[in-house]
Amino acid sequence: MRGSALVHLSPVAQLASTATVPRRSGSPPWSSVSGPSSGRCKQQMFLRLGSAMPLNAAMRSSCSDTPNLAELERMAARFERIEMSVVAEDLPAPDRSALGRLIAAADVVDEIFLTQYWSGNQALYKKLREDTTPLGKARLRYFWIHRSPWCSLDGHRAFLPGVPARKPLGANFYPENMSREYLENWMNHLPAESQSDARGFFTVIRQSSSGLHAVPFSTEYKTILQRLSRLLREAATLTTDSSLALFLNLRAYSFLTNDYSASEMAWMDLDGPLDVTIGPCETYGDELFGYKASFAAYVGLRATAEEERLRLFARHMPAVEAELPVKCDYKNHAAVSNSQIRIVNQITSAGDGAHGIRPAAYNLPNDPRIVQQRGSKRVMLRNIQEGKFRSILAPIAKRVLPASAQSDLSFELFFNHIMAHEMAHGIGPQRICVAGRDTTVRQELKELYGAIEEAKADVTGLFVMQYMFDRNLIFGGPVMERKLYMTYLASAFRTLRFGLHRAHGRATLLQFNYLKERGAFTSLGNGTFAVDLLKIKPALRDLNRDLLTIEATGDYRYAQSLLSRLGELTSELRQTIESLRDIPVDIEPVPVITGVE
Ligand code: ZN
Repeated sequence: MRGSALVHLSPVAQLASTATVPRRSGSPPWSSVSGPSSGRCKQQMFLRLGSAMPLNAAMRSSCSDTPNLAELERMAARFERIEMSVVAEDLPAPDRSALGRLIAAADVVDEIFLTQYWSGNQALYKKLREDTTPLGKARLRYFWIHRSPWCSLDGHRAFLPGVPARKPLGANFYPENMSREYLENWMNHLPAESQSDARGFFTVIRQSSSGLHAVPFSTEYKTILQRLSRLLREAATLTTDSSLALFLNLRAYSFLTNDYSASEMAWMDLDGPLDVTIGPCETYGDELFGYKASFAAYVGLRATAEEERLRLFARHMPAVEAELPVKCDYKNHAAVSNSQIRIVNQITSAGDGAHGIRPAAYNLPNDPRIVQQRGSKRVMLRNIQEGKFRSILAPIAKRVLPASAQSDLSFELFFNHIMAHEMAHGIGPQRICVAGRDTTVRQELKELYGAIEEAKADVTGLFVMQYMFDRNLIFGGPVMERKLYMTYLASAFRTLRFGLHRAHGRATLLQFNYLKERGAFTSLGNGTFAVDLLKIKPALRDLNRDLLTIEATGDYRYAQSLLSRLGELTSELRQTIESLRDIPVDIEPVPVITGVE
């Protein structure tokens, strides 16, 4: 052990999100244990924009309508606290010093995020830290999980007294309580250039005596961004990785100038052992328009073995495409191998990357001009996914799989299937020709596209795994196959638990019901289910053919009939999902890092 130091991050543990779940009527908002799964759902957030606000944000919560100590403890139990060890000792000493600066920078990102989320957040956080009663401590813990007084699992309702009853839709990006219509009207009447500033990712809208203005982040958060810039520049001078140094220097410059283009490009090119995302990222916090980016930080170490596996999958994608169980005319011979995926073990995250439900992956950048030029990059957080697997999927499997199948649950195969799923998004039909028209699958399938494409990626992902097993490209055989399909069955319940309002939920229900209809999944009658290993392969093949045919022909009606025929949650499934209510919804990772200088 070379001069290792043990660092426990953040005084209060961290956690994460913005996605919401409709609450069952009749139960108090904090009694529900359902919630969204890993990652975030853009579609869901934008759907919420059009919906009526559940509570008037101007109303303030009182002690009588916020949870007491026991209730808060129950709410917090939905997030299982887990220690997450990361060993940084293999990094060269200068990089370990750089890592120390980056961890400090992540703390600064938390400060900015608190301000961005709500104008009263910083003062509230300070007040909570001063309250040492058991209730005060429970409030502080739950506040820190959400980085706010609103619970994302309970429709952003307040769990602390004296704050707006619901998170302001526009967070602290717009004057609070100014209506969408009013702001929209103001934006529409601005000259073109001012409009793009007002709708831009990196500005806030403020009111002065002369009216409304778009204020750049570099002005609004000037002092704190100067501090953040300094830390990034210090880390840049320390690191031995030139791609990281370039990104950090350019990002430090972006914070001061508000121009993020060059640093976004440098982020795409990061190629060292330390993986860093820091700055304004996702726009889910802006529920009013989805324009404004919230600050997030993710610092991690590249997972080299898993990235090697991903490259193996990528090399075989053209051959897999050629073998897909669909008519030759429907194959996409120009299939892309998606090289822009990084797999990382997270060391720490902050701000928008650490509140509510923890993202297990993210796709950036969001700026369409950058995406047009350079594409986007997906970062998968392997150890976060593993934490969720152990805290959520493993207890689910204990209930839905029979005792004899318990040893079949495998994180390795679960994660391999996720990687194969991501690769599978890159193959199959994309640009298609319908009745002589050049079009895309997305355009033709409209609102059904998400569910069909997710189901296709799941099923094609299993096809990829089976392809690799069959050709001994990865270690296979009957035991590994059984583990793959049993793990796939158990994970269906994890996804279904998060509801059918998301594309992933509908995609999973479609697969589950299809495979049940074909006898590939069977109910054992006591709330447990099994896989028929003889039937599952041909059934998956047929389902894959149906999904790929829908996409290749852009057949909206076929998609609609398949989704409505197989989109029914049977009472047996409903009961099983109900019986999982006490299992945690997410994790609260507490990083334990060794090897930081
Ligand atoms: Zn997907």
